[in-house]
Amino acid sequence: MKEKVLILNIGRCAWGRCIFCGYSRENYPEPNLLRMKVDLDRKLVGFEGDTLKIFGSGSFLDDKQFPREFRRYLVEKCKKKGIKHLTIESRPEFITEDTLLDFDGIDLTVAIGLEVADNDILKKLGKGMTVEDYTRAADIIHSKGFKVRTYLLVNPPFVDDIKESLDRSVSFALQHSDSIVLINLLPHANAPLFDLWVEGKWKPLTREKFFEITRPYANNPKIELDVETFRFVPRFPPEKRANLEGVSSEILNHPHFRVWQEYLCDWYEKPKDKTIALFLPCSAKKPYSKSKTHTLIYKTIKTLPIFKNIHRLVISTPGVVPFEFNDFYPFNAYEWDERLETPEIKKEYIKVTKKRIFDYLKHHKYDHYFCFFKYSAESYIALQEACNELGVSCTNCLSRETYEALKEEKGNPLFKEEALKELREVLSKVKQKGT
Ligand code: SF4
Repeated sequence: MKEKVLILNIGRCAWGRCIFCGYSRENYPEPNLLRMKVDLDRKLVGFEGDTLKIFGSGSFLDDKQFPREFRRYLVEKCKKKGIKHLTIESRPEFITEDTLLDFDGIDLTVAIGLEVADNDILKKLGKGMTVEDYTRAADIIHSKGFKVRTYLLVNPPFVDDIKESLDRSVSFALQHSDSIVLINLLPHANAPLFDLWVEGKWKPLTREKFFEITRPYANNPKIELDVETFRFVPRFPPEKRANLEGVSSEILNHPHFRVWQEYLCDWYEKPKDKTIALFLPCSAKKPYSKSKTHTLIYKTIKTLPIFKNIHRLVISTPGVVPFEFNDFYPFNAYEWDERLETPEIKKEYIKVTKKRIFDYLKHHKYDHYFCFFKYSAESYIALQEACNELGVSCTNCLSRETYEALKEEKGNPLFKEEALKELREVLSKVKQKGT
């Protein structure tokens, strides 16, 4: 069975108020019958399979989003091309005997986002439908000889006991569905659910936790698991960003830093070829890549044969920042002036940063660990303490002797030729596993 998935991002979901949904908050092109037909023809060129799945943000059976003529055109097209099985998505209110008439002669599956079989939770999710709306729609679909596919959220907010709630929802949905998809709910940055995460009222599940919770259903032929419905990175939209200037406990522990550190520990997968951790200081200039510190470091190490294996990790007020995110908010937007640090805030910085490094290294293993820091830096102290606690040996590429000599001179010791030479020398001796 060869299948094709078509993502048709057109128009708006007629409802658009589910608090976890980011798609309905995007601006997609208005429906245009001619353009939609041309686009469909183009997407189906060369496809010779028998199964087509259509995903869109909303309801395929809503005339305002997908004109009826387009639906009929699609069904005809399927018949001509030998596509026998078609899956579409719809909210229950658009599922009627009339809207289903156009699909005669096709093995149709209609997917419905029930999310959770609990009217109180559905209300809190802003779903705008009830369990009864779902069963009514499912009955209509079955009465026409078509199939029902039900989406359930594994970790919706407002649920006290995720497992118990999921068990109830699955048992209920099985009575009305031909297939079920258990979805790992991840936060779309433009949806209110993202704010619940920032406020510490809800948290996405890790992949491991998702598979642990859904294990009882893993071998059920009617149930599919979807651990990652979209490539999740916490991209704060401009309107949700904060002013992160200042030196205070409030800034240090800002929720926008917290959610990123949670993401980096719980969800982020470091690039596979990055086997050498190189912890680096931050810079006043943002993004870090535009600063003198990081330009010098980059120029020093970029020609090393192992450069592609080096994972630059900045340690700063937000915690651990993998360099590939250096131009992401909040890493490119905070301003922490070290000259304003008090002994108390330095102490707190070390404690908070040590915990963040510890957590990061618990989740991400490297073959080698290096850093390039002034020995007096709080970030260095935090790094050493975290590594000691984990039993990880992390070498400072700047030797203490060179540092002691350079710190007497004017200017940042890390900018000095001797220091950069040591950085290059230490890293050039690293033997990659298998070489
Ligand atoms: S989840 Fe579905 S019904 Fe809810 S707003 Fe998004 S597209 Fe619309």
